[in-house]
Amino acid sequence: MTCDELTNEIILYYSNELPPEKVEEYKRHTMICRQCARFSFDIREAIQYIQDYSPKIEKIDLLLEDDKGSK
Ligand SMILES: [Zn+2]
Repeated sequence: MTCDELTNEIILYYSNELPPEKVEEYKRHTMICRQCARFSFDIREAIQYIQDYSPKIEKIDLLLEDDKGSK
């Protein structure tokens, strides 16, 4: 995965819409690329911030609700 690909897929990643193999690539890239790790962290912070201040935004709720696979 390249930096550009990661940038394009970061929303999918946080929406839990990325296929598992892409998630692996995503994680691997953030481990080797400081810039993307930072970017990923910033996006996560932003999502949390938005959720804290706008709890009524269902879309964001879904992003962070990690119980999709309640196995
Ligand atoms: Zn990168």
